[in-house]
Amino acid sequence: MRIDLHAHSNVSDGTETPDGVIVSAVAAGLDAVALTDHDSTDGWESAAAAAQEHGIAFVPGMEISCRTEEGISVHLLSYLHDPAHEGLLEEITKSKDARLTRAEHMVTLLSEDYPLTWDDVIHHVAPGATVGRPHIADALVAAGVVADRTEAFTSILTSHSRYFVQHYAPNPAFAVGLVRAAGGVPVFAHPVASSRGRIVGERTYRDMIDAGLLGLEVEHRDNPQEGRAFLRGLAAEHGLLMTGSSDYHGAGKPNLLGENLTSPEVLARIEELATGSTVVR
Ligand code: AMP
Ligand code: FE
Ligand code: FE
Ligand code: ZN
Repeated sequence: MRIDLHAHSNVSDGTETPDGVIVSAVAAGLDAVALTDHDSTDGWESAAAAAQEHGIAFVPGMEISCRTEEGISVHLLSYLHDPAHEGLLEEITKSKDARLTRAEHMVTLLSEDYPLTWDDVIHHVAPGATVGRPHIADALVAAGVVADRTEAFTSILTSHSRYFVQHYAPNPAFAVGLVRAAGGVPVFAHPVASSRGRIVGERTYRDMIDAGLLGLEVEHRDNPQEGRAFLRGLAAEHGLLMTGSSDYHGAGKPNLLGENLTSPEVLARIEELATGSTVVR
């Protein structure tokens, strides 16, 4: 069984439609794939339909952008929550709206030095999608400023850049509680990805575990080996599930579907623990 529990479509910053992700998952030889768009579940319906048509299992998911009091970015994966849960829905709507204002602000700053307009960015955002820096990167690529998203993220779009603007994001422990309230299974995404920015310390893990965290994404290309060993220790100590995933973004990132996998036993546990929605087979 080949199971990949982290992939993005153009409902957020992936480059393929939700059904396109399913087609790619079939081509990658997967038996099950989760769609985990940033702060949105809008892709679930079409992904579920495509998965049934192609005979693979679809795991409804989402990735919530969070930030600690110290300003450290945390990504929280949620599996099988109720997409209509009011508290969670209110929170992701707040984040999505804030992302829009933030992207406009970044484009205003960037336009002082680069040939870039808001229209150029919107051109790369699917209707209703969660807007992120990758869409700004796409517009910069089209303008010939950078070669690809990766170059944009290592130069003008880094969090240290003078063009970077933060957006509202919930506290990670609070988000864990909301996911549990919505019947979902919260899993800390790429927790030790130091290349992305500062990583959290012991207190954040404790707060998230106290709030009901159920898993850690151990096998992810951005987690260095030493960090994975630490995560395995933490999982053993607290009885947390361990997942492995690609974080596929279509052509937007080098990550390939199936490059990391989650065991069938762990997916079965996720299904047992969830009460908000179900795996589509
Ligand atoms: P944002 O949430 O708008 O701050 O943008 C962060 C998103 O950009 C992450 O979710 C990643 O999917 C994406 N990202 C980060 N680094 C890269 C990169 N080097 N190449 C492509 N996409 C990236
Ligand atoms: Fe992303
Ligand atoms: Fe992430
Ligand atoms: Zn992701």
